[in-house]
Amino acid sequence: MAKILIVDDAEFLRVRISKMLTADGYEVIEAENGAKAVSTYQASHPDLVLMDVTMPEMDGLTALKHIRAFDPKARVVMLTALGQESVVLEAIKSGARDFVVKPFERERVLGAISKLLV
Ligand SMILES: [Mg+2]
Repeated sequence: MAKILIVDDAEFLRVRISKMLTADGYEVIEAENGAKAVSTYQASHPDLVLMDVTMPEMDGLTALKHIRAFDPKARVVMLTALGQESVVLEAIKSGARDFVVKPFERERVLGAISKLLV
């Protein structure tokens, strides 16, 4: 089954998404900031990344760019908040494949993932 890297500085959100994805059969790994996301991506080669935007150490946009530079085929879905439209635009330009606005629904997250993993 596909391996998904969940990146968010909010632990409760990582736990929530992790439960959601493991219940659907995905293998899950986690990172709490952008810097750890980049190193975890390089070490574990996940099939897809769910990436928060606002995080300490390194933000999600910067991490997205590093990951896409390392692996131009990396599938990254941004987890954004309302009001982050300019971030979404830059993320798409930088290679993000989709975005999900928080607070998100289970179906939206699972739908974005399954669409990209076909
Ligand atoms: Mg955050």
